[in-house]
Amino acid sequence: MSATPEIAVSEVKAALAAAIGDDAVSTAPDELSAYTADTYWPALAANAAGTPIARPEIVVRPRTEEAVAAVLETAGVHGTPVVPWGGGSGTQGGALATEGGIVLDLRSLDRVIEIDETSMTVTAQAGVNGRRLEAELNERGLMLPHYPASVEWATVGGYIAARGSGVLSTRYGKIEDLLLSLRVATPATGLIETVPVPRHAVGPELTQLFVGSEGTLGVITRATLQLVPVPAERRFAAVAFPSVHAGIHAIRRTLQAGHRPSVVRMYDEDATRLAFAPVVGEDLSGVYTVLAFEGEPDAVDVEERRTLELAAEAGAELLAPAIGERWWDRRYDFYHPPHQPELPAIWGTLDVVATYSRIEAVYEALHNAVRVPYAETGLELRMHFSHWYPWGTMIYGRFVVPDGGPDALEIHDRIWADGMKAALDAGGVMNDHHGVGIKLGPYMRRQHGRALDALRGIKAALDPDNIMNPGKMGL
Ligand SMILES: Cc1cc2nc3c(=O)[nH]c(=O)nc-3n(C[C@H](O)[C@H](O)[C@H](O)COP(=O)(O)OP(=O)(O)OC[C@H]3O[C@@H](n4cnc5c(N)ncnc54)[C@H](O)[C@@H]3O)c2cc1C
Repeated sequence: MSATPEIAVSEVKAALAAAIGDDAVSTAPDELSAYTADTYWPALAANAAGTPIARPEIVVRPRTEEAVAAVLETAGVHGTPVVPWGGGSGTQGGALATEGGIVLDLRSLDRVIEIDETSMTVTAQAGVNGRRLEAELNERGLMLPHYPASVEWATVGGYIAARGSGVLSTRYGKIEDLLLSLRVATPATGLIETVPVPRHAVGPELTQLFVGSEGTLGVITRATLQLVPVPAERRFAAVAFPSVHAGIHAIRRTLQAGHRPSVVRMYDEDATRLAFAPVVGEDLSGVYTVLAFEGEPDAVDVEERRTLELAAEAGAELLAPAIGERWWDRRYDFYHPPHQPELPAIWGTLDVVATYSRIEAVYEALHNAVRVPYAETGLELRMHFSHWYPWGTMIYGRFVVPDGGPDALEIHDRIWADGMKAALDAGGVMNDHHGVGIKLGPYMRRQHGRALDALRGIKAALDPDNIMNPGKMGL
């Protein structure tokens, strides 16, 4: 955490107040304390120990998109870092002001600007909370089919900036598939709009450049996103596969045949026993898998029948649908105590994605690099497969060490280093939907090779003074 001289902080504060109004700017210590940790484990542990790893010097809460651009201009003049903050639910440390400076809390940009029921799109400001937006859309029979488990905290801007995914992604896609266009403020350009449709031939697609940019290129101030009707029917099913291999084979065939279940969540044996079973309240073992099908009832009939036939061909046992419904009703319980671990435990999610040709090797590699060698720490590794594509799938590998003791941070970092090396060596990509932040920055060169230099060049063009979220994403 850098310490900008006090005199400089008060100068920047005065300049910001002059630019966007005194009441949008604060240096009150108790207000700054609210931004010392997102949900990145080392930040939570450091906070609990009273030694935060990050602390902004100024918090700014802009009420207009023009004010966001004015903040960047003022920060540029003073060379002050700017770190966007959406809901603070990120797991990678992306929203932490590790170099001091300004935290830009976007939650006052909270207007739903337009719901276009003909095109089925919504235009909303970046700070709109996910749950609030969903309620507003549902009243009109619509939904934004991006249902992350963090919907109660996360914002529209955070969804996009961290390149997220929701529980219905297998049918509707990740956030980048739902996005039409953006308004963004960058230090080099001020406020810019990307072209209003995602399919065009007027040059490269700039909208997508900002998806996953985690505040390192600029600040997303509004977005237009695709909606769908609330489905006439959502039907659940549950199966138990004889093995992870059999499950991957069956779901691959399902997707490659063109079917799109909305939910496919396949828990490996450890995850079934340690995560799925306690939440649904039964004593279970096997490779339990929840499926959902949605849309018009006739289409649901066909999709369900064919998916279950392919599962049965792979040796799956068909279970009562009630277990799938219970899982849906309790799906947020996974992220709250007693199911969500708490300090002094160490936890994290090794979230990796790969093609079908490689995913099983990645799964084995994570098992061998993390579950086996760390067994002596009491580590549990619960892996599930939750976002499926026609070409591959991802592994959500939640590890928990019950109590790391005095070496907890070192153990945490070692697990990540070993897990990422194993996943990359086996042909995986190190993240499907949680982003990079601080956590995965050290592995960006390994992941991207020389392409990382292209990303750095783009950053240098849009953010020449390197004020946008410095120190993140390995940039
Ligand atoms: C319990 C739990 C469950 C989760 N489940 C999911 C899940 O199912 N799917 C999923 O994808 N993620 C999940 N996450 C991770 C996290 O919630 C998502 O990444 C979410 O999209 C972050 O949104 P946020 O508004 O909280 O962003 P923040 O945490 O505030 O910020 C995340 C990053 O984006 C940047 N940023 C935020 N807003 C903007 C903006 N307007 N412009 C530019 N940069 C910006 C920040 O600087 C930071 O780098 C989960 C997290 C938790 C704690």
